[in-house]
Amino acid sequence: MNVYDSARMAEVLAPLGYTATETADDADMVILNTCHIREKAAEKVYSELGRLRQIKEKRAGGDHGRGMILAVAGCVAQAEGAEMLRRAPFLDMVFGPQTYHRLPEMVARASRGAGAVLDTDFPADAKFDALPKTELAEVDGEGRSAFLTVQEGCDKFCTFCVVPYTRGAEYSRPVDEVLAEARRLAAAGVREITLLGQNVNCYHGQRDGREIGLGELIALAAEIDGVERLRYTTSYPADMDAALIAAHRDVPALMPFLHLPVQSGSDRVLAAMNRRHDAEEYRRLVERLRAARPDLALSSDFIVGFPGETDADFRATMDLVAEVGFAQAYSFKYSPRPGTPAAAMDIQVEDTVKAARLAELQDLLNAQQIAFNDACVGTVMPVLLDRRGRYNGQLVGRSPYMQAVHVDAPEACFGEIVDLRIDAAHANSLSGGLVAGDARLRA
Ligand code: SAH
Repeated sequence: MNVYDSARMAEVLAPLGYTATETADDADMVILNTCHIREKAAEKVYSELGRLRQIKEKRAGGDHGRGMILAVAGCVAQAEGAEMLRRAPFLDMVFGPQTYHRLPEMVARASRGAGAVLDTDFPADAKFDALPKTELAEVDGEGRSAFLTVQEGCDKFCTFCVVPYTRGAEYSRPVDEVLAEARRLAAAGVREITLLGQNVNCYHGQRDGREIGLGELIALAAEIDGVERLRYTTSYPADMDAALIAAHRDVPALMPFLHLPVQSGSDRVLAAMNRRHDAEEYRRLVERLRAARPDLALSSDFIVGFPGETDADFRATMDLVAEVGFAQAYSFKYSPRPGTPAAAMDIQVEDTVKAARLAELQDLLNAQQIAFNDACVGTVMPVLLDRRGRYNGQLVGRSPYMQAVHVDAPEACFGEIVDLRIDAAHANSLSGGLVAGDARLRA
């Protein structure tokens, strides 16, 4: 989401003459795009600002006589805006994730030297309307793979999570707008589209006065010429409806890999998190998904040390992981976020306990990931080769399961979905070769 937002800012700033630069030293403007989801992410902002302040001061006093606009964007700005300006008065602009379309105006104000600009408004109207329509997709991997935002914000109010406070209310883009953008992407050579949203599967877009869910949207997007692969992220278990599960069965372009955050395997903890699903419902959901798409692999998010989590609760999480089996996962120590209900709970878990639980959980998740990658050896997988490798003649792509796959292949393979025989598995990637008989081997 942040990568995507940064691209959006770059696009809005391009007409003003700004282009991206690799180092802060020669930048006329530096924007830190920030994440507030855990305390660690938020803290990084202030240490980075200290470093940037020095560069800014050096530039202001230097021969080239050009200042630097220093800005903080994103969710830390949204949550701590005014406080941030007090702590870092050398900042020129502080603005939240709903304000990027006003960036040119903010830059003009900051350049006039009229004092720091603070903008953390949530517009009441549909936010996407304010943005030029072509600027909503983020094209990655040398143009073959793109993120397409279909939904923003969140109304779920998980008790640990700041997203509803920093990103605002849930909003779905109209169906035809999404499809028009998907067509434009396909026409520009994109082969794989990831439909993006904070809670993408609560998507409910309008079309001809009717509401359409994510399952139906996926089926419509799959009909577009050139769209060969579809994915969506990130989804909320309680919002996996029958139509979306059916899409996993009926739409071959929908990749057999699903990020489905469960957070915990303990019903008590899940209830305290306000997750609206229990462990048994999650297990049954996984069963239904696997019945629809037998080769489906899962990824998930986990939080350990949520307030009040006991050893027995943590065991329930370990049991769920052992039973379900994940191809990949993200796991975190619970981090109290200001303003969220869980931060005020009086039964916080000690950090040493959190650390021990996290290590144990990650050992199991890592072992599962390695086992999943190992099991791929000897199989043939379609890989979208959309990047050049480090070595001459090496290409890198993504398997259906989002694994990076390295291959020595002729240039004719670049940008194509190519069947590869997987020869070796590593912790975070695979390597493979062209299948004997592939015409491109002779190229
Ligand atoms: N709407 C998304 C959330 C994205 S945040 C979703 O439900 O998938 C990504 C992950 O960060 C969450 O799934 C959760 O596991 C983790 N996370 C969020 N808040 C957290 C907190 N306060 N402490 C620790 N981990 C947290």
